[in-house]
Amino acid sequence: METVDVTIIGGGPCGLFAAFYAGLRGMSVRIVDSLPELGGQLTALYPEKYVYDMPGFQKVLAKDLAKDMIAQGTQFHPELALEETAQAIQKTVDGWSISTASGKALPTKTVIISAGAGAFQPTKIGVEREEEYVGQGIHYGVRDKSIFLGKKLAIVGGGDSAFDWCLNLMDTADHMTLIHRRDVFRAHEDSIEKVMASRVEMKLWYAVKELHGNGKLDGVTLENTQTKETEHFECDALIVNIGFKSSLGPLKDWGFEIVKNQIVVDDRYETCLPGVFAVGDVCAFDGKLKLIATGVGEAATAVCFAKTYLDPNAKLFPGHSSDMDL
Ligand SMILES: Cc1cc2nc3c(=O)[nH]c(=O)nc-3n(C[C@H](O)[C@H](O)[C@H](O)COP(=O)(O)OP(=O)(O)OC[C@H]3O[C@@H](n4cnc5c(N)ncnc54)[C@H](O)[C@@H]3O)c2cc1C
Repeated sequence: METVDVTIIGGGPCGLFAAFYAGLRGMSVRIVDSLPELGGQLTALYPEKYVYDMPGFQKVLAKDLAKDMIAQGTQFHPELALEETAQAIQKTVDGWSISTASGKALPTKTVIISAGAGAFQPTKIGVEREEEYVGQGIHYGVRDKSIFLGKKLAIVGGGDSAFDWCLNLMDTADHMTLIHRRDVFRAHEDSIEKVMASRVEMKLWYAVKELHGNGKLDGVTLENTQTKETEHFECDALIVNIGFKSSLGPLKDWGFEIVKNQIVVDDRYETCLPGVFAVGDVCAFDGKLKLIATGVGEAATAVCFAKTYLDPNAKLFPGHSSDMDL
């Protein structure tokens, strides 16, 4: 593999903006992401939700924002290493070498870690044959609303995601049920009121115990969490919204100072490893906000410090992009 100027670990919004900015500063870039798609949380967790706090947009769907950020982040043609999890880091003469879970060694002069909360995995219901039905009726997120068109859909969960999807898919699904193991929710009051007043059927004090269907889901066994009585419930799509497990995983062993699952950085966004920076949700400093608007600023600053790390004669200030001819 070729040695690049900067390897960006995590292709979410902050990693994508770092890739764009590094391209702007004439650096060669590689983006590594454990997911098959770029976009990070925007693409994986809430593509159909509106984001209201992006400069220049009154509101924008997360998937549309991701699409534009991907176009911007890849415009200088970074090398993409998707479905690769950064596992370990070794010092080399030139800088660093990142080893991936699949056994690749990626040489690089500097590193920008924009790994969010780490490689995330949806929490599963934990019933038999769950894996078998993934994509065949069981979903842990919504990439494309149209697959629920005309379906008898059940959403499992009692948090914001479950309620948001109830509201979002109400006009898409033929029939919709919310299944929750208690009658207490962890969602915005406004969403709860809207769902309660809608045609969504509520199955409270129920948990999914078994999945049924021949290759494709056509029903589940529900257990009443109080009486333990069971009943058959017909549905041909089940969205499981009971949270995500995320962990920094291997990054925790790279020798960083870690506070609350985040990597401590200095005012250059540099970690305790020279030439290794961290930005976005993954980094920790006094006054840190986990927002895209602030994370992309961190990314631009980290890139400029990476540039001066590589070339001490380079200016920190990149100049105005409006003066450039891209
Ligand atoms: C439901 C929801 C709604 C939100 N709404 C808003 C909003 O309205 N406005 C706002 O500003 N923010 C919002 N956020 C927060 C926002 O999405 C995050 O702040 C933002 O995504 C952080 O970007 P990032 O690039 O730091 O990390 P992420 O988007 O988390 O991307 C990190 C990427 O790194 C990859 N990765 C992790 N570990 C590794 C590894 N070891 N090797 C390879 N790849 C790895 C992951 O697969 C992921 O793709 C919301 C978040 C959620 C969950």
